[in-house]
Amino acid sequence: MTSSSLDQLDRPLEVLRLSLTARCNLACRYCRPENQDPHHLLTHQQRLKLVRVAAQLGCRRLRLTGGEPLLAADLLAFIQAVKAQDLVEDLCLTSNGVLLDRPMAEGLKQAGLDRITISLDGANPQTVLRMGGGNSFERVLAAIGHAQAVHLPVKINMVVMAHCNGDQVVPMARLCRDQGVELRLIEYMDVGNRNGWQPHHVLTAATMTAQIAHHWPLQPMGRQLGSTARRWRYTDGTGVVSTIASISEPFCGDCNRLRVTADGVAYTCLFASQGTDLKPALHPQQPDPILAQQLTALWHQRHDRYSEERAMASQQTKAPVRPPPPEMAYIGG
Ligand code: SAM
Ligand code: SF4
Repeated sequence: MTSSSLDQLDRPLEVLRLSLTARCNLACRYCRPENQDPHHLLTHQQRLKLVRVAAQLGCRRLRLTGGEPLLAADLLAFIQAVKAQDLVEDLCLTSNGVLLDRPMAEGLKQAGLDRITISLDGANPQTVLRMGGGNSFERVLAAIGHAQAVHLPVKINMVVMAHCNGDQVVPMARLCRDQGVELRLIEYMDVGNRNGWQPHHVLTAATMTAQIAHHWPLQPMGRQLGSTARRWRYTDGTGVVSTIASISEPFCGDCNRLRVTADGVAYTCLFASQGTDLKPALHPQQPDPILAQQLTALWHQRHDRYSEERAMASQQTKAPVRPPPPEMAYIGG
């Protein structure tokens, strides 16, 4: 398959989201991770093989995620190896920032990471604690500074739960404007089985941007094809804020992302219940074309569009039916 190969809905494979671990040092209330990894984590060489073959098939971007990817022991060596082989155009990572001290920021930059997204769900320690982030507020603020100090481009992810941190949209917009970083406001999603998601827990992107525009007028920049974020420019020139509206404005139509868990199971949708085990094809004795064939077949048969189906079902006031999906920290977000 090349980048011109398409799935059943004519969508190209362009982004690989690779989870390095399912473990986490936090327990966000919307995510609720395991505190141990699955058996048979992929080795360094297996991950490299996966990225190499995915790149041959058209993946231009690699996002490292988890669980908490900074817990992965060989993280820096892996980033270095991906860069040394020039496998992707854009290599980024999503982290909760707890372990992002200055040496780690320098290590990531030197290894060749292009960008980092740091998650922060409130502009004060009490909200972060309530969201399951423990006492990490000050550390995460410092982490943003460490990334900036080594010139690693930073964005901030904030998951907004209406009943829990819905009052933090404007304070977080202010904090991110002051720090000179882009805030990405994420609608709370029904991923996994443990977070007790209910539709009324969702604060819509439209409500969030209206709240912000009340303080600082916004100009829409739209959503790039294949991107999750709809972006808005502050008209006073202080930067950009974006929304990820998987619930209220699904973007399945141009979804170009393949997710692979830390133990080598591929998911063609964040909301998919069934994954495909890539480990046999990732065995060191199997040549690259075997994996290429498996990924090509998987992508070719892909027809997932769960968020759109959920939106249509909610208009008919009936819940979409699906078997239990895996947890977010396993599939990687
Ligand atoms: N531990 C890292 C972190 O929190 O940034 C990376 C893994 S986390 C699963 C990736 C992203 O998914 C984070 O930005 C997190 O806030 C987001 N996320 C997790 N559960 C979510 C949910 N139910 N709805 C929306 N976003 C969610
Ligand atoms: Fe950990 Fe990230 Fe899940 Fe929070 S969202 S519990 S930081 S994996």
